[in-house]
Amino acid sequence: MNADFESILRDAGQSITKPRQAVFETLKTTDEPLKNGEIAKRTPNIDRASVYRSLELFTKLGITTTTIRGWTPFTELAEPFKPHHHHMICEQCGRVEEIANDTLEDVLTLVANRHEFTLKSHTVELSGICKNCRADLPQPTAS
Ligand SMILES: [Zn+2]
Ligand SMILES: [Zn+2]
Repeated sequence: MNADFESILRDAGQSITKPRQAVFETLKTTDEPLKNGEIAKRTPNIDRASVYRSLELFTKLGITTTTIRGWTPFTELAEPFKPHHHHMICEQCGRVEEIANDTLEDVLTLVANRHEFTLKSHTVELSGICKNCRADLPQPTAS
């Protein structure tokens, strides 16, 4: 896994620096997409600016993916470092759930094929209200 990471950097003409290695190690410790500030916090001994610069480079090179929620960027490892999945995000509490669903994948391929489009990658995010928050909502009264 580290070999891939290093060869991606090397192929891009980038060196394997201590901050870059440290940030990658931090990302490996979690499955959850994290706020960039949180990644910086979990990477001790590396200054915040270096963490942000590393993340920017990683995303450019496809090592990580960054999604903006509200105004906040969240970053996580991209494929092939993490299995393919999608996110379901609760608008109320911000909870992020990972989903992997073969039917979804098949449908996307089917749609692309129907449009004679060669699908190379896709991004799907579901946003809504999670189970916990739904329980807190006032139930509609029967009329
Ligand atoms: Zn929620
Ligand atoms: Zn997918």
